[in-house]
Amino acid sequence: MTQKNWTRDELILALDFYIDHRTALPPQSSSTALQFSRELRKVAPDMGASHAAYRNLNAIFMKLANFQAIDPQYTAQGRKGLQRGGRSDANLWELFSSDPKRLKEIANAIKQAAGQVSTHEGDDVDTIVEATEGRILSRLHTFRERNRGLVKAKKVEVLKREGKLACEVCEFDFDNAYGAHSTAAIEVHHRLPLSALPEQRKTKLSDLALVCANCHRIIHSRNPWFEIDELRKELRITVG
Ligand SMILES: [Zn+2]
Ligand SMILES: [Zn+2]
Repeated sequence: MTQKNWTRDELILALDFYIDHRTALPPQSSSTALQFSRELRKVAPDMGASHAAYRNLNAIFMKLANFQAIDPQYTAQGRKGLQRGGRSDANLWELFSSDPKRLKEIANAIKQAAGQVSTHEGDDVDTIVEATEGRILSRLHTFRERNRGLVKAKKVEVLKREGKLACEVCEFDFDNAYGAHSTAAIEVHHRLPLSALPEQRKTKLSDLALVCANCHRIIHSRNPWFEIDELRKELRITVG
């Protein structure tokens, strides 16, 4: 079986493991290495049917050697590591090598969320860009914000408090435009950082934001995803 490219989720776990053992990688035959390969295996089913089911220790250690090749601490001693790791390795390194704490939070969240949402429930390939935090957490986000009961409760709560339903980004007023159909038109976006999602078993209404479909699409169109306030500011700049 040919090995598929490493997914972002797998790379996050691998980089987290690498950083933990940066000064001295454990031997390939060690229980530490074996334990890590088991953890990696747990996320494989979430990566989709076409994904190679599991990576052997050889493949894992090649990936760790790819990280060595772009790790200044490693190469400073004249060592080379394994070149040609690819753009996604470098990209991940740039994002997380200076913030191992955040990397660990995300890695732990991925491990915790693995297997929670089936591959069909939270997928929307048209509108959802896989976040920096990887596929499993992106899917969990989508799944949570589409919980019908919660979405309805959020709309009722806002309507009661504000007397209208408006997009929290562009302020588009749904009642004005759609009248009685407004509740069907507005969407809900989950505000919590992706790494905090698995911990939180029950979504609070205050974690949800009302957004129009356009703004929601824009929020998810960039990596990292936009925060509500960030996109609001951005819109003001372009609108003038
Ligand atoms: Zn909007
Ligand atoms: Zn969303």
